[in-house]
Amino acid sequence: MKRKLSLVFGGAGFIGSHLCRRLLSLGHEVIAVDNLSTGRIENLAEVAAMPSFRFIRHDITCALPTALTSLSAIDEIYNLACPASPRHYQSDPVKTMITSVTGSINLLELARASDARILLASTSEVYGDPLLSPQNESYCGNVNTTGPRSCYDEGKRAAETLFNDYRRMYDTDTRIVRIFNTYGPRMSADDGRVIPAFITQALKGVPLTVNGDGSQTRSFMYIDDLIDAIILMMGKYITHSPVNLGNPVEIKIIELADMIKRITGSTSTIDYRPMPQDDPRRRCPDITRARDALGGWFPAVDLNYGLTATINYFKTSKI
Ligand code: NAD
Ligand code: UDP
Repeated sequence: MKRKLSLVFGGAGFIGSHLCRRLLSLGHEVIAVDNLSTGRIENLAEVAAMPSFRFIRHDITCALPTALTSLSAIDEIYNLACPASPRHYQSDPVKTMITSVTGSINLLELARASDARILLASTSEVYGDPLLSPQNESYCGNVNTTGPRSCYDEGKRAAETLFNDYRRMYDTDTRIVRIFNTYGPRMSADDGRVIPAFITQALKGVPLTVNGDGSQTRSFMYIDDLIDAIILMMGKYITHSPVNLGNPVEIKIIELADMIKRITGSTSTIDYRPMPQDDPRRRCPDITRARDALGGWFPAVDLNYGLTATINYFKTSKI
């Protein structure tokens, strides 16, 4: 039987590298495409030598290279290419917006030309600082159009619009997943997101930087649970509507800090910092649609187990 050909844009990033590995283990031929702006080629070290794997360095805001446009039979396209941490996406907000909009158009055109299925890695940030909790997919959100997070939030909202319009206009086979905070091995130690930040601080014995009083909440999903859902979304089940993917267990950031201190055995103190502008107060997914659409999918990994695995990664990696 012919192998499926999957293109993973953003393949050298945290989620992308896990997805490449899973697709290869399922027997797909995989091409990872990445501009290496926040991703690292070392994330792909495990799969680099596999004959069914290839890496192409490319920026999705530019016209796609012929190495991609000349491919004869693309089955699947995953659009994960976008900086994901507030520190990174705010460092060049115009580029962030262009990545979501022009980048998505370039990939949608490729999907259209090759009749491939295409998935957008959207985000819980489309709900902004939500006035409804937990957030379900019908909620239209509370998003600032002009704040420091807007380049990312509005960029992803525009990308969702483009995906829907390509489906309506050209019958493109689209999928949209709204990913809630996901963590695990191969996150960058220095990207500023809360779990790698707290873990590296705890391991170094320096103060944990808690923004505000730490009472804001997030819901953290382990990477393996996300990859399971993405595979179901692109394979067995068909749903064109956006689907929340997250772990509905909500936790305060200060509780997360205490948990990481406990698991690492760290004596670090807490350094309270000002709350960043527009930082959502609450975030928790309603995953009813995912459970119904994906055959009962539910995140199976609890935070204690996932954090321990992630801490072990940071202890053993040279980063
Ligand atoms: P990441 O920064 O590790 O991965 C993003 C990857 O995209 C990197 O390898 C980066 O080099 C690449 N990239 C960025 N801009 C690009 C461009 N213009 N052209 C080509 N490659 C480009 O972050 P991640 O956590 O793995 O996130 C992956 C995707 O999932 C992103 O689209 C992000 O918005 C989405 N997402 C992630 C989370 C999360 O909690 N991790 C939550 C919601 C949404
Ligand atoms: N946060 C924190 N200290 C840090 C990094 C983040 O207190 O060193 C807080 C941040 O203000 C937010 C939460 O942790 O309330 C999650 O932040 P992250 O950047 O991981 O993701 P996002 O805000 O996009 O959900």
